[in-house]
Amino acid sequence: MDEKLKQRLDGLPDKPGIYFFKNPGGEIVYIGKARSLKDRVRSYFAAPADLKVANIRAETADIDFILTGSEKEAAFLENNFVQRYQPKFNLRLKDDKSFPYLKLTLGERFPGIVLTRKVEEDGARYFGPFSPASQARKTIHLLNRYFGIRGCEESVPGKRRRPCLEHDLRLCSAPCVGTIGETEYGKSVADSILFLEGRTGQLLKALKQRMDEAAGRLDYEQAGRWRDLIRTIEQIRERPRLISVGLEDTDIFGLAREKDRLALYVLFMRGGKVRDTAEMISREPGETPVEEAIARILDRFYGQSEDLPDKVLLSHPAASVRELAERVSLKKGSAVRFSIPRRGRDRKLVEMAVRNAERLLGKPEGENPGLADLARILGLVTPPSRIEGLDISNTGGDESVGSVVVFENGEPSRSEYRKYKIKTVFGPNDVASLQEVIGRRYGRMIKEGRSLPDLILVDGGKGQLHAAQKGLETLGLGARPVISLAKREEILFTWERNDGLRLDRTSPALKLVQHIRDEAHRFAITFHRERRKKKSFAS
Ligand code: SF4
Repeated sequence: MDEKLKQRLDGLPDKPGIYFFKNPGGEIVYIGKARSLKDRVRSYFAAPADLKVANIRAETADIDFILTGSEKEAAFLENNFVQRYQPKFNLRLKDDKSFPYLKLTLGERFPGIVLTRKVEEDGARYFGPFSPASQARKTIHLLNRYFGIRGCEESVPGKRRRPCLEHDLRLCSAPCVGTIGETEYGKSVADSILFLEGRTGQLLKALKQRMDEAAGRLDYEQAGRWRDLIRTIEQIRERPRLISVGLEDTDIFGLAREKDRLALYVLFMRGGKVRDTAEMISREPGETPVEEAIARILDRFYGQSEDLPDKVLLSHPAASVRELAERVSLKKGSAVRFSIPRRGRDRKLVEMAVRNAERLLGKPEGENPGLADLARILGLVTPPSRIEGLDISNTGGDESVGSVVVFENGEPSRSEYRKYKIKTVFGPNDVASLQEVIGRRYGRMIKEGRSLPDLILVDGGKGQLHAAQKGLETLGLGARPVISLAKREEILFTWERNDGLRLDRTSPALKLVQHIRDEAHRFAITFHRERRKKKSFAS
């Protein structure tokens, strides 16, 4: 087994979460959930294996994971990520239909509870997803039986004169014929929401109070009904701890700190589904208050980001958060709210982000000092763990080629290097050829939903930098950090400083970018020579 993969397996925690299997190109080929990441992921690599597992194993070159609070939360995330990345081996989950939700039709005077597979912005509240689907049906039955919530999709009030069989079976309080009033039914709906959100402590407290009040009025029949409901709730061993879904776009930040190292983990929720994650580690002097450090990171983060949410959830307070919210809202053109959730679904999401931030601090620090140095010089929030270097070779004016080299954590990842025969440019035109390579390389990565590099480096000066920026803008990647390094002068041009930066010869950042630039050059020129040789044989 490959050494990197072995290290990844050894580093897996005995905790619930979702895992990602990636191929040598960084593409996600399989996503799964586990109660214990350590046991589950390792089981894929223990012989013998069925055909599907053997195929997954054969294609996997790297493993990543996200920690969650429970297996249920993992199921929720797994479904979101599978739909986002469509991994080839997740055939079973590719269809949205595998995961039902409960829909509480809050837009109606007498809301009902029904099963659905589609989350819409229609005033209803959605809970789930449920796996297996039978769990969703059981929960509906429970709400019908003990809270009297209707399970039909009739208009209520409507034209019915008599309730249906559900009422006879004690599975509905029959609001359709006025057996229960709007206020009392509303209380049952509120109780149901507490139950579905897993806030049973609060629900039991309210029910006990109602039972005591009924007993105080000598209404023993009603008091007995409350007592039965209290017992039932207490007996339900596996109380739902579900994440209800809204359709807002939310960024969720979890923070962890250890001496002068600060880790932030972000979950990006779009349209109610976690779509992506990001991680950042920065160094902050130990005496810097956490509030200030977070404020600085968030300011930089939203200064660079173009995909702005409606809501930002934080695990810790940030200094001058009101001013920051104003700046981000102005940039977005609509209100962006920042808050620290104390309970409920949002708190659970923040806790998930914190767990993952803590995990980051447990990771060994990057061995290449150039990465942190480069991040500092370029003002990047986090060291660029994946850098791609591009070069064009066209000596002699024909058979032009382009190269892309990939560096992961400061080390070349040779299996990911790619070469390109220039197709649309004739004659020695570096700038146009570079734009063609950028269009083909990143256009394809976008189409395949693959992670883009944190930083792109092109061989050359200002002209090459501008060509690269233009090529990226055409793909909608104008905000992606790109730099160029000119030969001989060794001047670094950046997307912000195109007057150029002359780095100290001993700078670890300069050594790293020189290594990447030279590797891209070597790879391009070797390919170019091969092509010219072939051509001269052919003629
Ligand atoms: S009793 Fe009325 S409200 Fe209840 S399920 Fe039947 S039709 Fe619907």
